[in-house]
Amino acid sequence: MSPEADEPSCLSRHQSYRKHSPHKPSSYLISKLRKYEDLHRQCGPGTKSYKREYCKYVIWLPANGLGNRMISIASTFLFALLTERVLLLHQRPDMEDLFCEPFPNSSWVLPVDKFPLQKEFWDEKDRHSHSIGSLMQKGNSSAARNESSRGQASSYLFVNVNHGRYDGDNVFYCDRGQASIEKIPWLIMLSDQYYAPAFFVMKRFEKEVIKMFPEKQTVFHHLGRYLFHPSNQAWGLIKRFYRAYLEKADQRIGLQIRVFNPKTVPFQTVMDQILKCSSKENNILPKLDDAKPVGTSQSGNGTSSKAILAVSLYSEYYEHIKNMYWTKPTVEGDVIGVYQPSHEEYQKFGDNMHNMKAWAEISLLSTCDVLVTSAWSTFGYVAQGLGGLKPWILHKANDQNVPNPACVEDLSMEPCFHFPPTCDCDTDEKVDAGALVPYLRHCKDLNWGVKLVE
Ligand code: GDP
Repeated sequence: MSPEADEPSCLSRHQSYRKHSPHKPSSYLISKLRKYEDLHRQCGPGTKSYKREYCKYVIWLPANGLGNRMISIASTFLFALLTERVLLLHQRPDMEDLFCEPFPNSSWVLPVDKFPLQKEFWDEKDRHSHSIGSLMQKGNSSAARNESSRGQASSYLFVNVNHGRYDGDNVFYCDRGQASIEKIPWLIMLSDQYYAPAFFVMKRFEKEVIKMFPEKQTVFHHLGRYLFHPSNQAWGLIKRFYRAYLEKADQRIGLQIRVFNPKTVPFQTVMDQILKCSSKENNILPKLDDAKPVGTSQSGNGTSSKAILAVSLYSEYYEHIKNMYWTKPTVEGDVIGVYQPSHEEYQKFGDNMHNMKAWAEISLLSTCDVLVTSAWSTFGYVAQGLGGLKPWILHKANDQNVPNPACVEDLSMEPCFHFPPTCDCDTDEKVDAGALVPYLRHCKDLNWGVKLVE
């Protein structure tokens, strides 16, 4: 938490509905953050150093949905901490006002009109010719370094490690790639990935990052809670919903239902899968007393109340679950409420209010006591990381058949790095990123991805 933050401009910094985290950040991480704040204050937009380009920067470009963006911002911030760069976000209008400024007395928003790389920044062709991969291939990296040491305006490089790219830019994950970009003042980063785990297997960063995060599964948990405070507008959405529907419950159960292929996987399959996971295979949702006819009063004498938060683009799952608990008593006799904040129907691009709702829903999920999330979904990853929760993940269904088992308990609260590098940096031979160190394991929801575990 930034020490100098002022309450009215960022209410969420001083109020939270999340459970207190049992995971303490290391004192080394805290000292790195304070040092970073000083650097950002000195070099941020509007400062003398920024105008004269005295500092080194990493500019983050948005790609894909909000979950993808947040995991990649956190990774880029970790990179900035490790390399003493200043992180600036190229926020499009659809991301404005989602978050408070995280760094005291400064801004992390790139001022697009006061940016020295105007022309190059927008020119996609120029991006490729200035990419780290093509420069390394041409053996041109020393030329780029010389250019940068002379302080010319073209002293920048693009790094494109967006999903599924296995081309030259993956040299970013190699020590030699890092050596070649070390002195370049402007790095422009395009990624939708949670690439933070890569630093744990790079000789150059490994010691430092382990010192920062002795508890390895807490990287996103700490960085996410430090960086992402809902703006007052987003906080309004969260607070009103939480107080009306979730606050009084004894237990909050979050269901995040993301269906990537609704045309091939029918509603009933997903619904059966959710119930199989959370009721038959595990004791997550309260059991219905099927023996009792509709209208019978509760069989048990339970007095506890449970709130089920159903988060999805669609309303059908919420309707079905709500109806279930309305028309049948539960075995324990608990009071069950089922709630859904919104159903936006499809992912909308360039829509600020759509992203605001998504952010509010991610935050509400992070206040839950237990989470069921959907395989492959970065939306769910952010909720689990911020909440410090190890979720149950619904396996990805591909057709009408309910996967067996329906879900699996995750390995840790960390997001999954979907596309880790697959080649050894020195030999160029294939490597299995999940077999390099004991604290990096294949993800349960996506077997070619890796994640940090204890
Ligand atoms: P992913 O695609 O599941 O990895 O998550 P992303 O967050 O990167 O992209 C999905 C986007 O679709 C979100 O950012 C939202 O814009 C939208 N979306 C998906 N699921 C939901 C949902 O349950 N609620 C809301 N409000 N939006 C969602």
